[in-house]
Amino acid sequence: AKQKSRGTISLYQPEMDQQIRDRRVLHQDLSKAIKNGELSLAFQPQGVAGHTVAESEIIGFEALARWQHPVRGQVSPAEFIPIAEESGLIVEMGEWILRQACGEAASWAKPLQVAVNLSPAQFAHGDVVGLVHSILLETGLSPGRLELEITEGVLIEDFDRGLALLRRLKALGVRISMDDFGSGYSSLSYLQAFPFDKIKIDRAFVINLGRNPQSAAIVRAVIDLGHGLEMSIIAEGVETIEQLAFLAKEGCDGVQGYLLGKPLPIGQYARLIGRAETI
Ligand code: C2E
Ligand code: CA
Ligand code: CA
Ligand code: CA
Repeated sequence: AKQKSRGTISLYQPEMDQQIRDRRVLHQDLSKAIKNGELSLAFQPQGVAGHTVAESEIIGFEALARWQHPVRGQVSPAEFIPIAEESGLIVEMGEWILRQACGEAASWAKPLQVAVNLSPAQFAHGDVVGLVHSILLETGLSPGRLELEITEGVLIEDFDRGLALLRRLKALGVRISMDDFGSGYSSLSYLQAFPFDKIKIDRAFVINLGRNPQSAAIVRAVIDLGHGLEMSIIAEGVETIEQLAFLAKEGCDGVQGYLLGKPLPIGQYARLIGRAETI
């Protein structure tokens, strides 16, 4: 009886009901967010891995979604992207994000790169190739300036279809990077199977650089592995000058993180994109 009641308690918690209600409400609100102009993009600089910040020239930005909820204020994408994915809203939202990011980048005075996250549902449901193609035409962004970031979950569903989609995307002239490398399960076989241009080393490994020797060994190995496969490597979540110097010394190609800049409205990076004033 004791065990049964314990089981019952763990399955039925008032906070869990609250969480489900919260999600339902958030989902309803999210479905109106685009129309209400509550979504925006923050841009985080990506630089070449130099030994100092001054030597780490900014060559592009990652676009990251932001939601300003009318009552709750800023809701983290870690919270609303999964809700958008489960409900299918991400297809419409992802289209908005891609159009917004490409249109923004096309307006820059300097031809810097822009990286946009694609979610699994966009691959599974939307016509992702047709969408990227038409948005490039519509915005006039040169395909070589667009990079699409995908996590390994994106391709797990249907290998053959995933491979075909990646090849067709690459044929448009855009680049594909594997996001959050090392955080999943089948990363190595993925690298062999799919034609990625770039690997993004997950922040978890970067955080521990200098704290434990295993992380340094893994980061070093991933850099070598990627280069052996003719892929370039960028490390995310770089916060300290020591991390930057280590990555530069080990031959990492790119870096992204608070050390070079936080994700901010693009107006905050006006000088970098060659725009005279903030708008
Ligand atoms: P991600 O693609 O791995 O994005 C990097 C996350 O790490 C961002 O969080 C960024 O703000 C944060 N970050 C960057 N540098 C540092 C650093 O130096 N230190 C620390 N502590 N954090 C850093 P954010 O913006 O909250 O996004 C979280 C996740 O939400 C993203 O992870 C991505 O998976 C998802 N996401 C965000 N925007 C979009 C989007 O437009 N579309 C899709 N599909 N997913 C998105
Ligand atoms: Ca990303
Ligand atoms: Ca990432
Ligand atoms: Ca991450």
